[in-house]
Amino acid sequence: MTIAVSGVPASPGIVIGPVHLLRWEVPEVPARTVEPEYAPREIERLHAACDQAIVRLRKVRDRVEQHAGPEEAAIFDVQISICDDADLRTSAETLIRQGFVAEKAFDLVLLEWREHFARSTNALMRERVSDLLDVQIRVLSLLLDLPDRDPVDLPKGSNAILVTHDLTPSLTVQFDREAISAIATDAGTGTSHVAILARSLGLPAVVGLRDATAKIASGMTAILDGTHGLLVLDPTAERVAEYRERARVELEEARELEQYARADSVSVDGVRITLRANVDMPDEAAAGATSGAEGVGLMRTEFLVVGRAAMPDEDEQYEAYSKVLRAFSPHPVVIRTYDIGGDKLPVGGFPHEANPFLGWRAIRMCLDEPELFKVQLRALLRAAMNGDLRIMLPLVVSVDEVRQSRVLLAEAAAELAARGVPHRTDVPLGVMVETPAAVITADALARETAFFSIGTNDLVQYTLAVDRGNVSLVKRFQALHPAVLRLIARTQQEGTAAGIEVSVCGEMASQPLMAFALVGLGIRQLSVAPRSVPAVKHLIRSIRVSAATEAAAAALETGAAGAAEAVLRERLMVELRQRGDAADGLLALVDGHILPDNADIH
Ligand code: PEP
Ligand code: MG
Repeated sequence: MTIAVSGVPASPGIVIGPVHLLRWEVPEVPARTVEPEYAPREIERLHAACDQAIVRLRKVRDRVEQHAGPEEAAIFDVQISICDDADLRTSAETLIRQGFVAEKAFDLVLLEWREHFARSTNALMRERVSDLLDVQIRVLSLLLDLPDRDPVDLPKGSNAILVTHDLTPSLTVQFDREAISAIATDAGTGTSHVAILARSLGLPAVVGLRDATAKIASGMTAILDGTHGLLVLDPTAERVAEYRERARVELEEARELEQYARADSVSVDGVRITLRANVDMPDEAAAGATSGAEGVGLMRTEFLVVGRAAMPDEDEQYEAYSKVLRAFSPHPVVIRTYDIGGDKLPVGGFPHEANPFLGWRAIRMCLDEPELFKVQLRALLRAAMNGDLRIMLPLVVSVDEVRQSRVLLAEAAAELAARGVPHRTDVPLGVMVETPAAVITADALARETAFFSIGTNDLVQYTLAVDRGNVSLVKRFQALHPAVLRLIARTQQEGTAAGIEVSVCGEMASQPLMAFALVGLGIRQLSVAPRSVPAVKHLIRSIRVSAATEAAAAALETGAAGAAEAVLRERLMVELRQRGDAADGLLALVDGHILPDNADIH
């Protein structure tokens, strides 16, 4: 029977293929005991499972090394050594001799080790907690004969839809892009790390499916519609045919939009809006450079770290940043310093926090770890020789953070000078405006920074006190809430008064209705995923900024998101209708009546 599970659209596109279910969680282990005479047999099972896990891990390591690189593969060496650890095996043997079956003994030892490592004052030990967890899952699935479902195990060309609870960093590096064509997760929202990653990889994705993993079995055929946030399981032949047609139409629309890639980004009434690209991985730079973007408005450097056990060194970072700068030269490239924390974490390596989004994140972590931060700053100053680089600090709440960063930047430059390494010392330093504190002190920040870039994903989260990654709060994550609109307007006014550039690089900028609102609020620079550049350019070329300004002024006067959205939608529809046929596609997007008809789905 066909089942449709609806979630949050995270990355557009349609894929029809087999489901690859990955349950990466510690399985329930029944508390069985055995008579002492069976202990030798259980001990043998224990060693066999650990040895088998090592064989699997070596395979995984080799594949990851081939696909991602030696640094990403290093995590698996750590896990191999855990499986091989004599103390660990002896502790489990002791419990077996006390009467526990092998799986329970292993489970208890790993639980104890994880707690012990998590409490350690030694950062290196704390870093091992997630490796212990991965080993626990892998060995227990062998002992309990649960299918080990490594995503790298799929044959290339499988066109599989990976369905999992959440895509953790260690899973992310393992999956084979030549085997997996789409991602579906129980957890996550449109602005969570998994969604950003999927968009960066150009993989269609639906997140926030809540309990999809409970309803699904590997091998089932499914349709993943990343544009509308739908996963259809066991579809009928008619539905498959329907979606093949939809996929064809989407592709055609995308091709039609390509004409805008080369067009000028100028409104009907002659106002130029600069469109830049958000680039999260250096390998996407070349593709991003052909999207019609005039430079990079945000490069998220934490994706160099997510999925790795160790930070990239100065040379590796220099190469990564230079690649992006060269691809976009002579346009500006804004590279953001590490925004690690929240839901963007290296493998292990991070303290457990009760409230990670209010925690040790981004600039806070970098200022507390100056040596780590300076490696990045040195790499950036060196890379600046290869293009028009601008450095941006994330999650700033006070001007002190900018000042401290400047001191470290000067130290980094001095260190390079001492080594005789070519670098620049005049790189503009700007900030992300993504906290209410930054908006409210924007006048002070503007005096000490070269530019503002508004991060609406976080600004919405911190203004409305709505966790951006919580799927239960998706409807409450209201980017068009007048409180958010007023903060954006204020940032724009303060930045303009101080004569600095103000751009928006959050997800808001990618959506036509919201881009209309942003332009209306006075924003003249937007940065969006490369794939969204043509559509946003099409929007800009279809509107009058004067109409957007009036619409935004009306939205600012409303008291709630629903009313603001209604005002903006109505005005944008009027505007687009005046453009005739040329704006039909945009009208359909803005009209909101684009969800598929699910009437015959049970
Ligand atoms: C934002 O917060 O809007 C932003 C662009 O940064 P990130 O999504 O990486 O937090
Ligand atoms: Mg942010």
